[in-house]
Amino acid sequence: MTSLVYDLHSHTTASDGVLTPDELIKRARHRGVNVLAVTDHDTTSGLSDAQKSATSHGITLVHGIELSVTWQKNHVHIVGLNINASSDRLKTRLAAVQEIRQERAQEMAQRLEKVGINNALAGAREFSLNNNITRTHFARYIVSIGKARTMSEVFKRYLVPGKPGYVSVDWIPMDEAVELIQSVGGCAVVAHPARYKMTNTKMKKLLAVFADVGGAGIEVINSGSTREVIENNISLANQFGLAASIGSDFHSPDNKFVDLGRFPPLPDNVTPIWEGWDEM
Ligand code: AMP
Ligand code: MN
Ligand code: MN
Ligand code: MN
Repeated sequence: MTSLVYDLHSHTTASDGVLTPDELIKRARHRGVNVLAVTDHDTTSGLSDAQKSATSHGITLVHGIELSVTWQKNHVHIVGLNINASSDRLKTRLAAVQEIRQERAQEMAQRLEKVGINNALAGAREFSLNNNITRTHFARYIVSIGKARTMSEVFKRYLVPGKPGYVSVDWIPMDEAVELIQSVGGCAVVAHPARYKMTNTKMKKLLAVFADVGGAGIEVINSGSTREVIENNISLANQFGLAASIGSDFHSPDNKFVDLGRFPPLPDNVTPIWEGWDEM
């Protein structure tokens, strides 16, 4: 029996993480994670540096991505694990999503200007080393100029639906995202199901469609998941025949509650997403 520590959801400076791929891999090793998936938002550009570092530090890197997806006007995140990032089809699709991100960022900055937050586009870009602009980069800028004290305060006041800096866009449709991930050899996993503020009924509808179009798994444990959430996720996984994934969703060492490998082990009443992966 091997007892590897898996963390299948994390971010680098290629999206809205603050550690470079190399720094992230070193932290994974320090934290006792054996198998780490790097799953940056809508980009695979951190994977080659992460692979070099993983090889030299004895970490098994799972090549991943976290796709921004729209399903029935809801925005959800679908993680792809074990993807072939060199696929031209994937690159073309991601380039289109990056265009949407750039246009959205311009619109967000214009709206923020109207509520007294100036230079937000340039400011967010300063925080985005890879020019892959997310709301997180706007949030870091807004905190840095003292317009809010914490990240969660910025989101609440400015960056969620109904607030001045929120701009809704159409991301990749869910069925297309699942098919795209599969077409590049990956398996599709619904990220952090408890974070969407969906009713259980709606989540079940989503999972029925997701499983039907070929979705493989669902994250049942993230950093900070409560026991109730974990139990509910496990029951959803089993109900829809989905495998279970676990991942911290690590972004930054500043958040003490979210860290690589910081979550309980997977209970044995679910099928791990890594069952059947090559022995690592
Ligand atoms: P985007 O993909 O540009 O819409 O940005 C989404 C990212 O914002 C997520 O991946 C999180 O990293 C971050 N985020 C969303 N809500 C919050 C929040 N309440 N507090 C801190 N970060 C958040
Ligand atoms: Mn993020
Ligand atoms: Mn996410
Ligand atoms: Mn994430």
